[in-house]
Amino acid sequence: MKTELIGMSLTELEDFLEAMGEKRFRGRQVYRWIYRNRVRSFAEMTDLPRGIREELAKIACLTLPCILQERISEDGTRKLLLQLKDRKTIEMVIIPHQVTGGTRYTACISSQVGCPVRCLFCAPGASGFERNLEVYEIVGQALLGLQWGISNVVFMGMGEPLLNYQAVLQTVGLLIDHQGINIGQRHITISTAGEARGIRWLAREGLQVTLAVSLHSARDELRDVLVPLNRKYPLAVLREALNFYQGKTRRRVTLEYVLLDKVNTGWEDAQALIRFTRGLLVNVNLIPYNEVECGEYRCPQREVIDRFKMWLTRAGVNVTLREEKGADIEAACGQLKTKKVNGGQQENTRQR
Ligand code: SAH
Repeated sequence: MKTELIGMSLTELEDFLEAMGEKRFRGRQVYRWIYRNRVRSFAEMTDLPRGIREELAKIACLTLPCILQERISEDGTRKLLLQLKDRKTIEMVIIPHQVTGGTRYTACISSQVGCPVRCLFCAPGASGFERNLEVYEIVGQALLGLQWGISNVVFMGMGEPLLNYQAVLQTVGLLIDHQGINIGQRHITISTAGEARGIRWLAREGLQVTLAVSLHSARDELRDVLVPLNRKYPLAVLREALNFYQGKTRRRVTLEYVLLDKVNTGWEDAQALIRFTRGLLVNVNLIPYNEVECGEYRCPQREVIDRFKMWLTRAGVNVTLREEKGADIEAACGQLKTKKVNGGQQENTRQR
């Protein structure tokens, strides 16, 4: 078995080259080729002596996830179905944003194959949990995304990042390294279903990344149903973890709130949400539900969305409404994978 070098830190690469009988600085060269110049083969690492390149090709490898399927939405959102070494599949979405001076791209990446949290309205939860992703599989998604010039990374694909804590944190370390990939910390968002223990760990890392919490309801009886993790960490416990996080980091937290028609968009829901935000430094991000085929949940009418937003704004809550992206290609997480499992082939789907 060849050793996978993608995912290794600078020190690990230095150790690896040293174990091959080479100087440690060779490890730094390999690190730069992988993460900064992003070559795909040892042959391209032209400042290494030929002998080292040949030896590396014999004992090591550089594996990126393989693009199985690619769908491009009318708004430019690109959704990729990726295959891993063990043939399991994950999803990644590249989302364009218009900013002054041009277009920026965000990679929405996965941290697990499937998801153990099983939120009622979310496709990966429904398809079950298979395994954690390794660092090379997570950072590999970002390396693929860099081909399209991504400047932001959000852990909002499949899986619960804080339940694959070590691999996710090692990946963040690689993403933000100035000598390597060099993505700004503030351009990285970790989204969690409310894994309070992980939030407390993250608080102590001294990072500047953004934490997003998928709240979806500030009423325990409803959140218990929508996000089953709430039974383990009820709202009061989650809120304490957020308090702790803000005490340590002084960072504003995003609360994601998927709007589900006739489920979490009433006056009572708004009031509970307003109470939850009191004393926290937060931005509430309202997300119109992206309807899943065969799912029972619906996206509310525009008036309902606007009214909910107005209730929050009037109470002085910082609130934004996420624009819908890629709805025509089912870009909500897990949808492409679910489709494939069901055997459905779409028009507009490109096979590779
Ligand atoms: N497990 C993490 C990250 C993955 S989900 C978390 O729960 O935050 C990323 C976000 O997409 C979550 O807020 C999730 O609730 C939301 N989401 C899942 N399915 C959706 C859908 N069909 N429409 C809109 N948002 C969805």
